[in-house]
Amino acid sequence: MSARLRLAVVTILALTWVGGGVSGAEAAVKADSLQQDIRTAVYAVHRFWSAHWSDYFPGGYSPPRVLGSYDGRDPARPACSGHKMLPYNASYCMTQHFIAWDINLMRMSYTYGDGLVYQVISHEWSHAVQNRMPPRYLVPQVELQADCMGGAALAGASRDGTLTWERGDNQEIAATLRGLSGDTPWTNPRDHGSATERINAFNTGVRYGVRACLA
Ligand SMILES: [Zn+2]
Repeated sequence: MSARLRLAVVTILALTWVGGGVSGAEAAVKADSLQQDIRTAVYAVHRFWSAHWSDYFPGGYSPPRVLGSYDGRDPARPACSGHKMLPYNASYCMTQHFIAWDINLMRMSYTYGDGLVYQVISHEWSHAVQNRMPPRYLVPQVELQADCMGGAALAGASRDGTLTWERGDNQEIAATLRGLSGDTPWTNPRDHGSATERINAFNTGVRYGVRACLA
C-alpha cells in the first residue's frame, strides 16, 4: 500500500502524529520506508473513521491517541494501567484510549512486505472503535471483528482515495499472518484466532465493508 496524497499526509501528520519513531541507528532506507508506511497507515485509518463514523454509529468519533512505536526491549516503554506494553505486540489501551506497537513487530512483519503494518494499525484502531461504538454491535470474537473492521477501514480508505491498494496487498497480508502465526503475541492463535480465521475476517471486511463486521 502507499499514500496517494503524500503532501497532505506530511502536512496533516505534523498536526496529529504523537510520538513514535525508529531510533537513529536503524538502516536508513528500510527504516525510512517503514516509518513512512506507519505514518501513512495512521493517517489513512484516522481519515477513514473520521469521515465514516456517522455512517455506522451514533454520537461523535473519538480517535485514540497514537502513542506509536516503542521498543519492546526498553525498560522505559509505555504501560497501560501499570502493565508494560509487551514485546512483539501491538495494543489498544482501553483505560487510556491510546494505541501503541513494538517497532520490532513491525520490522518482523516488514520482511514479508508492507501490508501487515497497515493492518496492525487498522486492527488496533478498530479496538478503539469497538470500545466507543454501541455494545450491541460487538461480536463474541472481538479479535476477529477487529481484523474484519481493520480490513474494512483500509479498503474504505482506498475507495476514498487516501490509500493506494497495490496488487497483491491482500495476499501479502495473508502470507504474513500465516508466516508469523504463533511467533508473536499479536499473532497468537489462542486469543486472536487461527491465521485462516484472521484472513477470512480481514477479507470479509475488505469485500463487504464495516457493516459486515458488526453484530
Ligand atoms: Zn486485537
